[in-house]
Parts: sequence; structure tokens; C-alpha cells
Amino acid sequence: MRIAVVGGGPAGALFACFAFHYARQIGHSVSVSIFEPRDFSRAARPGCNMCAGLIPVHVLDEFADIGIFLPPRVIRSLISDYSLHMSAGTLDVAQPDKRASVVSVFRGNGPIQPPPEKPISLDAFLLGLAIARGAQLRPVPVRAIEVGHSPRLRTAGDEEERYDLIVLASGVNGPPLQVEGIPYRPPKTRIMAQTEIFMSPSAIQKLQGRVHIFLPSDSNLTFGTLVPKKNYVSISLLGNELPPGSISRFLAQPEVTAQLGVQSRAICACRPRISVSPADPLYGPGFVAVGDAGVTRLYKNGIGSALRTARAAARTAIFYGPSGEAFNRGYNPLCRAIIQDNRFGRFLFLFVHVLQHNSVLAHPHLMTVKWEQRQPPRRRRLSRLVWGMFTGSDSYRRLFAVAIDPRIQYHLLICLIADTWYGRDLHTVLMTKGRMEL
Ligand SMILES: Cc1cc2nc3c(=O)[nH]c(=O)nc-3n(C[C@H](O)[C@H](O)[C@H](O)COP(=O)(O)OP(=O)(O)OC[C@H]3O[C@@H](n4cnc5c(N)ncnc54)[C@H](O)[C@@H]3O)c2cc1C
Repeated sequence: MRIAVVGGGPAGALFACFAFHYARQIGHSVSVSIFEPRDFSRAARPGCNMCAGLIPVHVLDEFADIGIFLPPRVIRSLISDYSLHMSAGTLDVAQPDKRASVVSVFRGNGPIQPPPEKPISLDAFLLGLAIARGAQLRPVPVRAIEVGHSPRLRTAGDEEERYDLIVLASGVNGPPLQVEGIPYRPPKTRIMAQTEIFMSPSAIQKLQGRVHIFLPSDSNLTFGTLVPKKNYVSISLLGNELPPGSISRFLAQPEVTAQLGVQSRAICACRPRISVSPADPLYGPGFVAVGDAGVTRLYKNGIGSALRTARAAARTAIFYGPSGEAFNRGYNPLCRAIIQDNRFGRFLFLFVHVLQHNSVLAHPHLMTVKWEQRQPPRRRRLSRLVWGMFTGSDSYRRLFAVAIDPRIQYHLLICLIADTWYGRDLHTVLMTKGRMEL
């Protein structure tokens, strides 16, 4: 089978790795060409696929299933704590168990020139592996694809090539791509703002191992995050309107300067898009869309979704062939599951939005999580929910089930009543005396 993969980010590179893996299992030969114009060994914007770079450790375990082990130099930090800053107060959550921790990575080769001698880019590492396993790299952009019984693509140099399968792994930040033969509608997106800040070793010390999430109530910001990466911090903002200057205004907020200091200076900035809906259709005869160009988890763990969609699409193509019918049976169930799970995610984020703007409702949540942090891990139900939401380490459906657990609801209600009628201290007193049990 001749396969063309459009885009060599995580979805494209992992598709190639899985395709070779499954083809070897059944003794078939497969040829994979990856079209990727970006050089990930470069530093800053030209080598970077623009992302906060947080990966739950369980996703690394899934990499390991096909012999992919990230070298230590690619992993910038191990995250075991999150702090959530709301107007109602700050919520510190420790990882509920070891498997729930998260690592941070750079997608490109770091934010400044010259890049480090030993490459630290996740995307360079994954693409390098795909090439080492037999993929051919074509460093040119694809301009158009035509889907049908004889799939073909046209590169920017106007060369036309035929394949048995075209895998669209171009994400949502590439140049417009013409798709013919199928009414492909790309995913809807939202704009984010992202920047990197250099920190001195002493200043970074207090940020190590902890991600900060800011949910301000008085701005257009949905959230802002600080992610430590050795001597840098990545800052990502999501909001309804992010006019120029949003990053500087965010950096000037007192809660942010309390973490970064007032001297923080952005050394690299971009405004990437994030996918917030699935493409339609996701497959057809000789065509499949994976990663962000197909369907991804809402707001969190896009790299994990790239891995899962790449694996399911490659497995289907190699075991059952590249027909629309095969993808309908082998690939569609995973896509449906992600789309369904995102519905729960949308609801949960709506609820976070309510808490963000309503301190009266947020305060009982804060108090409960604070209390839980002193309890054994099995009793940290609300903390597990917060951790799973913001790290992407659990499905939204499971987290929704935790959110509606009557024990949590009962506890929050009692806290709310205590807060409203007797003042906040009563709740704390009752908690510390152990008279309120979850
Ligand atoms: C600000 C921000 C923060 C994020 N933070 C996280 C996070 O912390 N953790 C996480 O897991 N996810 C995060 N994501 C999401 C994550 O970036 C994506 O889900 C992930 O990159 C998807 O991988 P992909 O391979 O599908 O697409 P991409 O990584 O976008 O790769 C697509 C590739 O296709 C290439 N390409 C595009 N068009 C063409 C063309 N016409 N021809 C040839 N090649 C082409 C591009 O050069 C690119 O290399 C974040 C996203 C944003 C915007």
C-alpha cells in the first residue's frame, strides 16, 4: 500500500509508526511518504507546532506500547501539582496518584537561537522515529488533495502523485488546503495566544513541578496557564477576544507577577488556533483525517488524541484496507467516542465558567478541595475531578460522573449553606473537627 501523510506533527509521525508496526505484524510491506515543510530542528516559531506541551504520563505509556520512549532531554519538567487561581481564592491540587502525573515538552527546538546542541523538540523526535522506521520525508507543503478511488495530491511545486491512501494530519494551523472529491469541512477553531519566558534558575525554582491556571472573573479570558519547562515558562491564553497586548496585560496581573516576578519578558510569541469541533467527514474512500485535522479532545490532551486517532486509522488501513467502509467500521467508533466525550467536557467547562464568575458557588468547591488535600487519596473525589479536567488525564464522561456523585453534591450543599448563613469559618471548623464526612 502506498500512503501519503499530509503533515508530520504528532498525528502524522505516529500514523507512520503505527502503520509500519501493524504491517510488520501481518508481514505486509507498506510505503509511507510524509509531507512536512516545517523543520522541527529549528528554534522558535519556524520549528514549532505551537502548544503548551503538557502530556499526561499515561499517554507516554501508550507511546511505549510501540517502543517509543521519550529521551530525558525532550522532557522539560515533571508536573505533580496544579494551582487554580480564581477570584474566590487559590486551589492547590496534588496529583491524586503517580500515574496521573504530567510532563512538559517543547514542540520545536526551544524558543531561542541558537537552538541547543542536542535537540529537545518532541515533534523532531517523533518524526525522526517515523523516518528511522522507513517513512520518506518530503519537505514540501501539499496544496491540494483529491479523494476517490484513485486518490492523488498536488504539492506546492505542482507535482501530482497518486496513492492508495491519503492521511490528512495537517492540524488546524497550516495554510488552506484544497480537498476535492469529498465535502471535507475542517474543524472549527478558537484563537489562543502563546509565549515563552526565560527565567533565571533561582526564579524558576518555585515554579518547578507546578502548573498554574488562572481563571479571572473580570476579563475576557477563559483561562491562562503557566507551564514550567526547565529554565523557561510557557504561557498560553484562551479567550473570546485576545486583542494585541493580551499577553502583556496578563503578565502584569498581580496574581501572575506573584508567580513570575515583574521582570518577565516574552521572548517568542504566536497566536495558534485550537480545534474545538470535529471535521466532517472524517474519512472516505482512500482518505482519513487524524489528529487535529480530524477530531481531538476538547482543550486538553490533543497529543493523546493525535496518538489515538493515528493508531486507530493505521490499524484499520493496514488490517482492513483503505476503503470508506473499512474506516466506518474500524475508525468511526473511536471518533464517535471522542465526540461524545467532548459533550461532557463542554458541560464541565461551562460549569467551570460559572464558578469562575461566581465566588459564592466557587468558595465551597475551594474549601472542599483544601480539606480533601489532607485526606487519603481515595477520598479526594473533587480533587480528582479538578486534576482530570485540567490535565486531560481522564475522560470527560468519567469526570462528569464524579461531578454528579451525590456525596460530593451533598458536601458542597452543606458547605454552601454554612458559608451563606454562618460565615466561612464555620465550615473550616466543622471540617477540622471531622464532623463533616464525605
Ligand atoms: C496554545 C495551545 C496549547 C496547547 N496545549 C496543549 C497541551 O498542553 N497538550 C496537548 O496535548 N495538546 C495541546 N494543544 C493541542 C495540540 O497542539 C494539538 O492537538 C496537536 O498538536 C495535534 O497534533 P497534529 O499532528 O494533529 O497537528 P499539528 O501538531 O498542528 O501538526 C500538523 C503538521 O502539519 C503540517 N502541515 C500543515 N499543513 C500542511 C500542508 N498543506 N502540507 C504539508 N504539511 C502541512 C504542519 O507544518 C504541522 O507540522 C494545544 C494547542 C494550542 C493551540
